Amino acid sequence: MRADLRTRFLVIGSGAGGSVVAYHLARHGEPTVLLERGKWVRPEDMTHDEPEMIARIYKDGGAQTNSEADMFVLQGQCVGGSTVLTNAVCFRMPEPVRRAFEYEGFELPRDDLDRSYRRVESVLNVHPLEESVDNAGAARLRRGMRALGIEPGRFDKAMLHCIGCGYCNVGCRYGRKLDASMTWVPMAQNRGCEILTEAEAIRIETSRGAVTAVLCRDLRDGSRFRIRADRYVLAGGAINSPELLLRSGIRKDCAGTRTSFNAGAIMFAEFDEQLNAFDGDQMCVHHLADGFAIEQIHNPPVSFALTMPGWFDAHHHAMEGYTRMTAAGVLVPTEPVGRVYLGLGHRLVRPLFDHADIRFRLTSRDLANFRNGFKTLARIFLAAGARRVLPPFARSLEIRTEADLAAIDAAIVDQKSLVGFGSSHPQGGCPAGGNPRRDVVGNDFRVHGIANLFVVDASVFPRSVEVNPMLPIMAVADHAVRSIGGFEPEDEIREGPAWEARVRAAAAVAAN
Ligand SMILES: Cc1cc2nc3c(=O)[nH]c(=O)nc-3n(C[C@H](O)[C@H](O)[C@H](O)COP(=O)(O)OP(=O)(O)OC[C@H]3O[C@@H](n4cnc5c(N)ncnc54)[C@H](O)[C@@H]3O)c2cc1C
Ligand code: SF4
Repeated sequence: MRADLRTRFLVIGSGAGGSVVAYHLARHGEPTVLLERGKWVRPEDMTHDEPEMIARIYKDGGAQTNSEADMFVLQGQCVGGSTVLTNAVCFRMPEPVRRAFEYEGFELPRDDLDRSYRRVESVLNVHPLEESVDNAGAARLRRGMRALGIEPGRFDKAMLHCIGCGYCNVGCRYGRKLDASMTWVPMAQNRGCEILTEAEAIRIETSRGAVTAVLCRDLRDGSRFRIRADRYVLAGGAINSPELLLRSGIRKDCAGTRTSFNAGAIMFAEFDEQLNAFDGDQMCVHHLADGFAIEQIHNPPVSFALTMPGWFDAHHHAMEGYTRMTAAGVLVPTEPVGRVYLGLGHRLVRPLFDHADIRFRLTSRDLANFRNGFKTLARIFLAAGARRVLPPFARSLEIRTEADLAAIDAAIVDQKSLVGFGSSHPQGGCPAGGNPRRDVVGNDFRVHGIANLFVVDASVFPRSVEVNPMLPIMAVADHAVRSIGGFEPEDEIREGPAWEARVRAAAAVAAN
């Protein structure tokens, strides 16, 4: 049972957005509490048991879907949030996207953002992935891309001394991934920030245009307590932040609107030779195209099987080729037509179904991008010498020659056509912009109409950022500190050596 608390800043959510803000506030000497629903799972407590780890660090044990249950939406629920689940892929927000955000009314001055990127990248040790940890599928994809005149991209990653174990999505038990639980959160703690884990914000209480307290539940025993602060920062992620606003009756007119995703599904290719592509980093190669991205993703066995199309014998037969296969996803930045809302399930059976609903359907433009993306990827696999390509379609299809590609158009009718369709990159729901009637937060990240409440996470993006969002969210959070804290973040962050010690400690434990 926890007692009521009083602080100057309360940050709700310890993921990409919240952890960066909490660090800067604490470093500036501000009394800060960082509230996190999940547990702090340390590298030494992580394993390569996929079902066990997914149950421990994913929201809803990895089972969050849209209301029609034809799309999964993956998010983290642990200290460090979804960053703990990442492949540590780092992209800056493309300049056309920054301009498109500006067009929507969300202003992110380029020079300020560049300064924020430099700070964030130095903490995350962002660098091109070392070739030494490439998996064998990467060479096949590169060969296929080059044969088609496409220059393959090498990912930048937030890692230190990665050994390419291939299990990034269940957390790094070797402590080599520089996610928020390895960087910003312990850095904030070292600067005096109080980290409250297994504690959930359940209602934001307001009076006369300001937040007076946040009602919280201690998830260890179900008891309730309140945190009072001068300023509140909501950073629960693209589904949870609008949900908490809606539950609290704040901006009910537009909270939960303009939800978008980088959404996708995985295509498999089987080769004649043994690849053992599970041995190495899961994501080594990419290609960013107009309307879609191709990103290699070679999953460990359970996740590989879960996304493999086919039933019973067909599925079994396909999985027999595991050691000769590699895989890549087609990722489409969807239009912002989704909605997070408190649906009938929430109102009628709340104790059982204590969640917001997610409504999302792919538009015809999104579907066209998927058709182009899967045709391009199938061509790449064929050019790389694949014996057969297995697309993730409900209609069973095998591609062996260029002539088979025409069937892809007819196979993708709507999102139910895609097997294993989903997203690890939900965005929007609290869109930022200067229009108080349409946007939830202003350009200073303050909720329109609430003097002391800010939102800083993926939910503020008014449309998809088009690339993997972790780094852009962290940079935007770094930029937001000016408005939230009223000070300029320190230019240089020199807390890096602490990683070396943590990585060495985690490596020593993993070796035993
Ligand atoms: C499997 C997977 C792989 C990914 N790989 C990459 C990658 O390689 N590169 C990349 O750029 N992006 C990647 N992403 C996406 C990236 O991790 C997210 O976009 C980013 O972390 C979102 O940041 P956020 O601050 O919005 O939310 P999150 O990082 O999700 O953090 C939100 C936190 O708030 C907590 N919270 C929510 N509500 C409450 C509440 N009411 N009370 C208390 N706590 C609460 C949650 O438990 C969570 O810990 C991946 C995501 C997943 C799921
Ligand atoms: S060692 Fe490398 S590949 Fe393995 S989980 Fe850690 S960061 Fe990912």
